[in-house]
Amino acid sequence: MAMLDELGRVSDEEGKLTRTFLSPAMCRANALVGEWMGAIGLTVREDPVGNLIGRAEGSSRRAKTLLLGSHLDSVRDAGKFDGPLGVLMPIMALAELQRRGVKLPFAVEVLGFSEEEGVRFASAYLGSEGYTGRLSSRTLELRDGAGVSVGDALKEWGGGRFSLPKAAHKRGELLGYVEVHIEQGPVLTAKKLAVGVVSAIAGQSRFKLIWTGKAGHAGTTPMALRRDALTGAAEFALAAEQLARNTEGLVATVGALTVSPGAANVIPGLVEHALDVRHARDAVRREALFALGRVAKRIAKQRGLSVAWQRTQDNCAVECSVGLTALLERSVKAVQGTSLSLVSGAGHDGVVMAALTPVAMLFVRCRDGLSHHPDEYASPADLKIGLRVMVDFLERMAQQHAS
Ligand SMILES: [Zn+2]
Repeated sequence: MAMLDELGRVSDEEGKLTRTFLSPAMCRANALVGEWMGAIGLTVREDPVGNLIGRAEGSSRRAKTLLLGSHLDSVRDAGKFDGPLGVLMPIMALAELQRRGVKLPFAVEVLGFSEEEGVRFASAYLGSEGYTGRLSSRTLELRDGAGVSVGDALKEWGGGRFSLPKAAHKRGELLGYVEVHIEQGPVLTAKKLAVGVVSAIAGQSRFKLIWTGKAGHAGTTPMALRRDALTGAAEFALAAEQLARNTEGLVATVGALTVSPGAANVIPGLVEHALDVRHARDAVRREALFALGRVAKRIAKQRGLSVAWQRTQDNCAVECSVGLTALLERSVKAVQGTSLSLVSGAGHDGVVMAALTPVAMLFVRCRDGLSHHPDEYASPADLKIGLRVMVDFLERMAQQHAS
């Protein structure tokens, strides 16, 4: 808790926590967490995209590497748990194993990813994309609010030099990636459990929908002659809600509505809004999107509107590793008595890491499911249970890989 508090004060903004990709606060955060890594004997380095990496070699020279981590960047006016918990928890767990005299047969890397939230460049996962060698030259051209490109920011970070990094490891060198994260949802609270194990990270599609009708005088245009873009969009939002309510595990959200011209006495002629659809199974998400496409078409036809779709994001669902997840569940049962399997509705670094190595995730209960907010909170008692699970998990891994 003291470490979370101290790291939570490392911010780019006075009086609130904001720490974005390659910012001065990020630099200080890496230095601080790097100190903590060094204090337990990890060899600390930063990679070309600003990821902080603390490595401990295994007792066997040919040992594979287990990756443990999360992200050190934050949203604007953030809480102090989202991200840092998954970097600090492994440091605490490794310290506890040292105290117990347990020497792990495999190597461990604790990872503090430099970017996950997508705040500075409106593109998420830059840290894990860099670590896994998946950063593209197209991403380097993205610009922040000040007009600085990802490529230029990385060059400055690297003291004038940057080239696209290769993956930090080959697939065969790795045992997997395990991330601890606050749940950011209400399920653990409802089930009265401190921790749960993630079975899958939901796939996610985001679109911008543009409804075009005809603006007109709110007093003189009879109802039968109107082409109101907002009522069309509203009907669509209700249909999306209905579909998600009737489909197990599906979530669909219409948000970020802009209404033009936006006057009290003018019929809305143009509406733009976002649509966000998520499910743990890609086939269900795709089927839902087809259905919503048909609904939008029907609504547009009936109301004399046109509707256009622009895809803004598309991530496939990620299944967590069966083997690592089973082991993590055993640890949760040993510590908590019972385990709970959850789908993560939010994206995490594991989405990108899954392309390189099997992933597993442990969720820790957070108060009211609240995150991305200064009131974000997980209790010391719950963190202790999470920590005991991590220690138990690493001991089980050690037994499994003892030569
Ligand atoms: Zn996070």
